[in-house]
Amino acid sequence: MTFDQDIKSTVRHIPDYPKPGILFHDITTLLADARAFRRAVDELVHPWAGSKVDKVAGIEARGFILGGAVAHQLSAGFVPIRKKGKLPHTTVRIAYSLEYGIDEMEMHADAVQPGERVILVDDLIATGGTAEGAVKLLRQIGADVVAACFIVDLPDLGGAAKLRAMDVPVRTLMAFE
Ligand code: 5GP
Repeated sequence: MTFDQDIKSTVRHIPDYPKPGILFHDITTLLADARAFRRAVDELVHPWAGSKVDKVAGIEARGFILGGAVAHQLSAGFVPIRKKGKLPHTTVRIAYSLEYGIDEMEMHADAVQPGERVILVDDLIATGGTAEGAVKLLRQIGADVVAACFIVDLPDLGGAAKLRAMDVPVRTLMAFE
């Protein structure tokens, strides 16, 4: 077994969560495994080691855990992208599509300066609606979105392709059908 398959096997799959018919890919088991967590963070940042990244933007909530570690590794700042109403200072806001319906996400308007190089991080990309919203929000305040990184890709749902069509390079570490 390669180390990468080893990491993949630390993700737990939960049928019928959060509702019947949905298979949830639970990365908390990867995070709890010291070797897998370190290796996943190292692999995510690998292409940017030594290059200039100003900020890492993490999407609530699991993107905070990974994004914080990635920012530390790249010596970059960390910026939280949150569900509406959670951030205390002046925010910019965008509506984004969920599987059923829409929601809104926010970030502090002064969290990224125009032209800063930003990497977006979340645990998983499915339809890409969440990440697409985050990219638009970052671009709205002038960020240069260098890449979007996810541990898990669900390629059948087309999210990574959607981001690439927006000229965002996408890095994922494993895929599940
Ligand atoms: P999308 O907007 O790409 O359809 O959904 C991705 C968002 O929903 C991410 O923020 C991700 O954390 C969450 N998500 C959707 N399905 C799963 C899943 O099976 N496992 C995990 N860990 N997160 C999921």
